[in-house]
Amino acid sequence: MDLRFSDDDRAFREEVRTFLAEKYPADIRERTQRGLRLGRDDHMRWQQTLYEQGWAAPNWPVEHGGTGWSATRRYIFDSELALANTPQIMPFGLSMVGPVIYTYGTEAQKARFLPDILASRVWWCQGYSEPGAGSDLASLKTRADRDGDEYVINGTKTWTTLGQHADWIFLLARTSQDVARKQEGISFLLADMRTPGISVRPIITVDGEHEVNEVHFENVRIPVDNLVGDEGHGWTYGKVLLQHERTGIAAVARSKYRLSRLRALAGSIPAGDGTLLDDPQFRRRLARVEIELTALEYTELRTLAAVATGGAPGPESSLLKIRGTEVQQQLDLLYVEAAGYRALPFVPGQFRDPDIADDERIGGPWAADTAPRYFNGRKVTIYGGTNEIQKNIIAKAVLGL
Ligand SMILES: Cc1cc2nc3c(=O)[nH]c(=O)nc-3n(C[C@H](O)[C@H](O)[C@H](O)COP(=O)(O)OP(=O)(O)OC[C@H]3O[C@@H](n4cnc5c(N)ncnc54)[C@H](O)[C@@H]3O)c2cc1C
Repeated sequence: MDLRFSDDDRAFREEVRTFLAEKYPADIRERTQRGLRLGRDDHMRWQQTLYEQGWAAPNWPVEHGGTGWSATRRYIFDSELALANTPQIMPFGLSMVGPVIYTYGTEAQKARFLPDILASRVWWCQGYSEPGAGSDLASLKTRADRDGDEYVINGTKTWTTLGQHADWIFLLARTSQDVARKQEGISFLLADMRTPGISVRPIITVDGEHEVNEVHFENVRIPVDNLVGDEGHGWTYGKVLLQHERTGIAAVARSKYRLSRLRALAGSIPAGDGTLLDDPQFRRRLARVEIELTALEYTELRTLAAVATGGAPGPESSLLKIRGTEVQQQLDLLYVEAAGYRALPFVPGQFRDPDIADDERIGGPWAADTAPRYFNGRKVTIYGGTNEIQKNIIAKAVLGL
């Protein structure tokens, strides 16, 4: 892996910067800077802007509309987007179900689903976890029983992120009850969220937001054509998807941006005779996060390089997930400490309400978002497979224990 920037790479970085200066919509930029939650339309519009530029899917093969970039270019692209504080790309279509469909789907499925995913015309959600199956996902009980040319789905999925916005859901369901191992008999299915029998109920999280849901299936009929790959082999496809998911969760470039922003903010916060940045304890903790981030960055680059040369992210994505999310939480905490009493929103539960002017918040645009963000960020060591489970994967698949 060669990480030196060539003249071409430097020109590419300029191209990305020019694109961001000209095409990153001003209203979305402003909301993101103020820490306000974005809606479905904001995310779609931003992703469609990337699509129009041909940059929607850096992780996809060229034949399906990917960019074909080197690891260095992907690194530049991610870093520049993070520096401009653009919205995070919703992973469910582009990073999760898209790769499963182009790897295991039929030609008809590729033609039907991939163009809409690439162009962000359709919002997907992920139906893996169930009330009794999270870490032990293979214990899932949702069943899909074959009836002629249809599957009939019954069961409940939970923690379904942004399912309230979704047009389609990809799910793991049991198509066979008579199996030797619980990982067998699970299939990977696609369902239109408008299908009769699907209902979505909100779960309100500790930060007061509606980000996750329960999705109930009651005699939901979907065509057999919506089965991806072979019936009963969904566990294999589902695992590949999780490895793609975990690589993205590390969010190293975003953390680098947040760290540099925090350093700048700390330099303007009065503390003692100087600023918070003069406080040796605060500086030491900032430095520790920076060292961990740098180490993480190189691990991520190695994974990126493997994927860019045709490989899939392997179990090392578990390493990235653990360290990347731990760093994110350390940053969340440092932000709260930097904000102090101003970390609390003025109106409980409405801290991100766009109707509350910045000067009505105790801490202004950056500080009032820090406590809710800290609480929201507790999720990162849980979703995509908890960090304890990632340690089990590393023990088995990386260390061979
Ligand atoms: C905000 C958020 C968004 C999510 N979004 C989605 C989504 O969109 N789609 C989806 O399908 N799922 C989603 N999830 C679900 C997520 O994947 C699960 O919460 C996660 O896999 C853990 O499962 P669980 O909650 O059932 O906890 P459990 O599996 O019950 O675990 C409870 C605790 O026990 C520990 N534990 C369990 N088993 C072991 C073991 N073998 N060794 C060591 N420790 C163990 C866990 O680490 C955890 O600390 C989301 C979760 C959250 C919090």
